[in-house]
Amino acid sequence: MGGSSPFAPPRIIPQRCSGCGRCVAACPLKLISLESSGYRKQAVISDIHRCSSCGLCMEACPVGAFFSSGEKE
Ligand code: SF4
Ligand code: SF4
Repeated sequence: MGGSSPFAPPRIIPQRCSGCGRCVAACPLKLISLESSGYRKQAVISDIHRCSSCGLCMEACPVGAFFSSGEKE
């Protein structure tokens, strides 16, 4: 829990996620995984309390499916 991070822990907007998996590869703490959602895949963040708010997942996402209350769109 660092108070100096510019981000709050991110959340995923499911409707925007294409299931590409880039955020899964980007997260240094391996908190993100792809799960089946109906007939497609979608990223989910688990153990969000462990998130360091590094923002790498947000940078990796090509469709802007992440948002954080600490960053404006
Ligand atoms: S902000 Fe960093 S630690 Fe948190 S889910 Fe994204 S990549 Fe992982
Ligand atoms: S990088 Fe974005 S579009 Fe790709 S799986 Fe992650 S949240 Fe979904």
